[in-house]
Amino acid sequence: MTGTRVLVLNSGSSSVKYQLIDMRDGERLAAGLVERIGERTSRLKHTLVAAGDTREQEGPIADHEAALKAVASELGRDGLGLDSPELAVIGHRVVHGGEFFSEPTLIDESVLTEIERLIPVAPLHNPANLTGIRTAQALRPDLPQVAVFDTAFHTTMPQSAARYAIDPKIADRYRIRRYGFHGTSHAYVSRETARLLGRAPEDVNVIVLHLGNGASASAVRGGRCVDTSMGLTPLEGLVMGTRSGDMDPAVIFHLMRVGGMSADEIDTLLNKRSGLFGLCGDNDMREIRRRVDEGDEQAALAFDIYIHRLKKYIGAYYAVLGRVDAVAFTAGVGENAAPVREAAVAGLEGLGLAVDAGLNAVRSGEARLISPAGARVAVAVVPTDEEMEIATQSYALVNESENPRLT
Ligand code: AMP
Repeated sequence: MTGTRVLVLNSGSSSVKYQLIDMRDGERLAAGLVERIGERTSRLKHTLVAAGDTREQEGPIADHEAALKAVASELGRDGLGLDSPELAVIGHRVVHGGEFFSEPTLIDESVLTEIERLIPVAPLHNPANLTGIRTAQALRPDLPQVAVFDTAFHTTMPQSAARYAIDPKIADRYRIRRYGFHGTSHAYVSRETARLLGRAPEDVNVIVLHLGNGASASAVRGGRCVDTSMGLTPLEGLVMGTRSGDMDPAVIFHLMRVGGMSADEIDTLLNKRSGLFGLCGDNDMREIRRRVDEGDEQAALAFDIYIHRLKKYIGAYYAVLGRVDAVAFTAGVGENAAPVREAAVAGLEGLGLAVDAGLNAVRSGEARLISPAGARVAVAVVPTDEEMEIATQSYALVNESENPRLT
């Protein structure tokens, strides 16, 4: 392999995000986003990172194939095209890898078939991921392509955490279990937290709180995930931007029987119109905090429910781990919302958890500690970098498969 660059592709249901990274020094060469694919007002935003040069175009982009071709053309204009010999591998984010894919995987037909078989448990995400892979393959059939699964980091969970308390025959027939998501972020952040503490990941137990528009918590013991809050789908667990998170499952039968709602209507209600948005009409934490500061009671209740759930998971994962070295906040809310971090650990001094108000108020893009000096449990803010993690894993896999270790 001569190339040192990795193109990371994250194909969502109506968007494609991408980054081109040079693995010699981790430099981001280009990054961009195609939004609103399939609409008349699609938008492509492409940035040549070093030059700080951003180009935007608006106009209909019919599908993922057209989107990727547009991305390839933008990269080509900067001399970074997909035909470049510098490109070593394309790394794809794939949301659902089921129980089989516990590692980044070189994509071949059998891998595509398995990703396709998982569509019933990831109906929104896996089809878009597959289209992204197939289009990239058509553009560069000779280039290795690697799938990095959102679920992979969680495959180390013990059965006691991964299984639901239902008849195993039914669970197996319908592949019902806790898979967990955001795994690339939980893996990256737990490792970076160990680095921040100056310790090896194997020696550190971390509770990772990935708080973005989607949100999940995980308990990581010595670098391996032992529990996570999302389940069969990303609906379970924390209160999120638009998802309810945990609820009595009987709410669903109740809405069907008494509310006359269909399964699809309830799916939309719980995934798209619940969470912070359902509670107060806003899903952006900045707006919610602004309203709370103005005395808005609805926003204050939404914030309190969000924090209460977060605290429950911190307590639960403290008990799961037994010994906790660090709690790490990450993603849009976790990295930016100091009031959320403060409220989430308020009153948990008995567990050795506290934040220093001054450190918590600092705004920075760097991983940092916000707990008081000498605290029993470190509280950290660790910016996540899923693209870098996908690039690192994809590049390592291709290097390894071309230069297998002689053991
Ligand atoms: P993500 O899904 O990780 O991109 O996170 C997106 C969410 O982060 C947004 O919906 C906001 O709720 C939140 N967010 C982003 N920036 C800030 C900020 N400066 N303060 C508070 N929340 C923020």
